[in-house]
Amino acid sequence: MKTIGMIGGMSWESSSVYYQLINREIQKRLGGVHSAKSLMHSVDFGEMEKLQSAGRWREAGEELAAICRSLAGGGADFVMLCCNTMHLVFDAMEKSGVPLLHIADPLGEAIKRDGFHTVGLIGTRYTMEEGGVISDRLAQKFGLEVLTPDEADRTALQRIIYEELCRGDFNDASRAVCSAIMEKLVRRGAQGVILGCTEFPILLKAEHASVPLYDTATLHALSAVDLALS
Ligand code: GLU
Repeated sequence: MKTIGMIGGMSWESSSVYYQLINREIQKRLGGVHSAKSLMHSVDFGEMEKLQSAGRWREAGEELAAICRSLAGGGADFVMLCCNTMHLVFDAMEKSGVPLLHIADPLGEAIKRDGFHTVGLIGTRYTMEEGGVISDRLAQKFGLEVLTPDEADRTALQRIIYEELCRGDFNDASRAVCSAIMEKLVRRGAQGVILGCTEFPILLKAEHASVPLYDTATLHALSAVDLALS
């Protein structure tokens, strides 16, 4: 079994989801008391969020590249970034030379497998507005069209993620707001909706939308298990 390197802490709420998904899946596939070989480097999200909001992406990229090298030095065979937003600096991380598992790849494969071509995307403002996070890769590599919410809805999602989900507050009012935003995307033609924020699977389940949901955290975690056992 390969050793999985995880960059977590963005936020730790979602890192705990990844840790559980990966270990449960390894146990399911190998049986007995098997569990994943893994290393997690969990950052202080308070520090990372400051770099994000100040647009200091170069520094963030350098920091994440250094973490990739340290995980590889500690024995990780490949590294995954357990967060959509910071994939904006994926190129900087790739320069570390450490093998990486991009969050958009298992996502694009799952959407293609279902035969869809147009999907909605909800996530942080960065993920929805900067093509470099996941949309460009979904378009270029998988030929997908990605629809994003309007400005007012993007602002609402940004608030929910940073002021609630990343602080451990998962409530019905925000669940309803997210559901309504997803339905607007469906009315514009989305055949499915991407949960493009790794905290979303804690808040939103299949029954909260009228179309299939593509949960980036789960797809990413399961694909890490495939790679670890390959
Ligand atoms: N975990 C989130 C994501 O998947 C949001 C937190 C962050 O901005 O890093 O994008």
